[in-house]
Amino acid sequence: MRDVRHFVNGQSFEGRSGRFGDIFDPNTGLVQARVQLATADELDAAVQQAARAQIGWGATNPQRRARIMFDFKRLVEAHMGELAELLSSEHGKVVADSRGDIQRGLEVVEFACGIPHALKGEYTEGAGPGIDVYSMRQPLGVVAGITPFNFPAMIPMWMFGVAIACGNAFILKPSERDPSVPVRLAELMMEAGAPEGILSVVQGDKVAVDAILDHPLIRAVSFVGSSDIANYVYARGAQNGKRVQAMGGAKNHGIVLPDADMDQVVKDLAGAAFGSAGERCMALPVVVPVGQKTADALRTRMIAEIDSLRVGVSTDAGAQYGPVVSAAHRQRISDYIQTGVDEGAELVVDGRDFRLQGFEKGFFIGPSLFDHVKPGMKSYQDEIFGPVLQMVRADTFEEALELPSKHQYGNGVAIFTRNGRAAREFAARVDVGMVGINVPIPVPVAYHTFGGWKRSAFGDTNQHGMEGVKFWTKIKTVTARWPDAASEGHTDSSFVIPTMK
Ligand code: NAD
Repeated sequence: MRDVRHFVNGQSFEGRSGRFGDIFDPNTGLVQARVQLATADELDAAVQQAARAQIGWGATNPQRRARIMFDFKRLVEAHMGELAELLSSEHGKVVADSRGDIQRGLEVVEFACGIPHALKGEYTEGAGPGIDVYSMRQPLGVVAGITPFNFPAMIPMWMFGVAIACGNAFILKPSERDPSVPVRLAELMMEAGAPEGILSVVQGDKVAVDAILDHPLIRAVSFVGSSDIANYVYARGAQNGKRVQAMGGAKNHGIVLPDADMDQVVKDLAGAAFGSAGERCMALPVVVPVGQKTADALRTRMIAEIDSLRVGVSTDAGAQYGPVVSAAHRQRISDYIQTGVDEGAELVVDGRDFRLQGFEKGFFIGPSLFDHVKPGMKSYQDEIFGPVLQMVRADTFEEALELPSKHQYGNGVAIFTRNGRAAREFAARVDVGMVGINVPIPVPVAYHTFGGWKRSAFGDTNQHGMEGVKFWTKIKTVTARWPDAASEGHTDSSFVIPTMK
């Protein structure tokens, strides 16, 4: 059986823990490989090497670092097909969607290619008599990223794309469920000319995560995953004096006002609710039509749309989505559907019995639709992370606004309407971090910034864009005076705080 190994100091590294995680082929349900799970000592060895490499890398001029990011981008593009197939084979998403996963990560790398501009500090000439003040952004040193299974290319690139361009050495601990693409990305980063040790991949589980959170040389940790783990990572990392950003789960709402273009809404909702089998933190698993007529119209069209969806293996170019990542996750989704039924919601379309001929052991689940879901229900409050769309009917705009605003998660939300004033008011008042107006999956472009609110993110700095540059650097401010003792003479000691007269 194939072993997925660590990648440390520029080379494949065989772990000695004797512990492994299974990597499944979600299409067949069979174990296709196993991944080595690191010990704390193995993590430490990677960090020590990263720390040595970072000294030279941090001192390399930003334009040279940017050129390596350009070369990395070109290499990833050249290997796009191979990477997308590898990604799909472990994750289960269809290959076209895997290409999107890689492409969205590359867009952050493109942003990072402009790092010389982003790192330019601030300068004030003549802040006082003969005094100039300037600031510089310096790398933190060794930093780490811990990533989820659902975007095994994009999310690592969100993090290391910016962190490495800023002059840090990066330790990546990817999800143990689809760890192969991150290793290929690290190999390509070396091929692009990054020094050994600047991007290492340490495979692992909680042992490796805890070792990262406790390691004194790791200055900052970026985490993306489920909320309870995000909260834990944030608390333990911060307790150990690290800078931590920890993105968590989500339950995004799509608000449909009566004047919306219903044909378009149905298309948008189907893609956003069922694409990638609902395994996206920016999926739209909740739809909130305003008014009973809107709800009835939406329901009828959504049933027809679901009927036309094709679920298939990840290599099926005609399939809209593939299997979910594991048998346990499929069971969890089925259990939530049952919870919804038990709570009294109306299960209009039940995807639980879906089986794909020839792939009966694959982790497939058909699309499901609930109507008459109520805010108090557990199946509404929790993140299901599967191809399940829940309709919560609202009578008024205010009611619809309140639902996402009061939900424990606050990652994304979308409103569908032709009324600009209503959309504008919604965007301003809703208590959620990322808003789409007639855009179902409002993942911001790379030069803006990604981050949710409430239990969708712990810490206060977002991913990528200038927020990312801030997260991966520390600012130093210099106040400089070059007096001419001969002409100005010496000044007396001052025992009060200097102020600007
Ligand atoms: P997960 O929380 O199970 O795993 C994320 C990472 O944490 C993995 O690297 C995993 O190895 C590690 N981990 C798991 N259990 C741990 C533990 N007990 N202690 C320490 N580390 C542990 O998440 P997942 O299932 O891989 O990904 C899906 C989740 O990620 C969903 O909740 C989804 O909403 C969320 N997500 C959020 C965003 C966002 O930006 N807000 C983006 C993508 C995914």
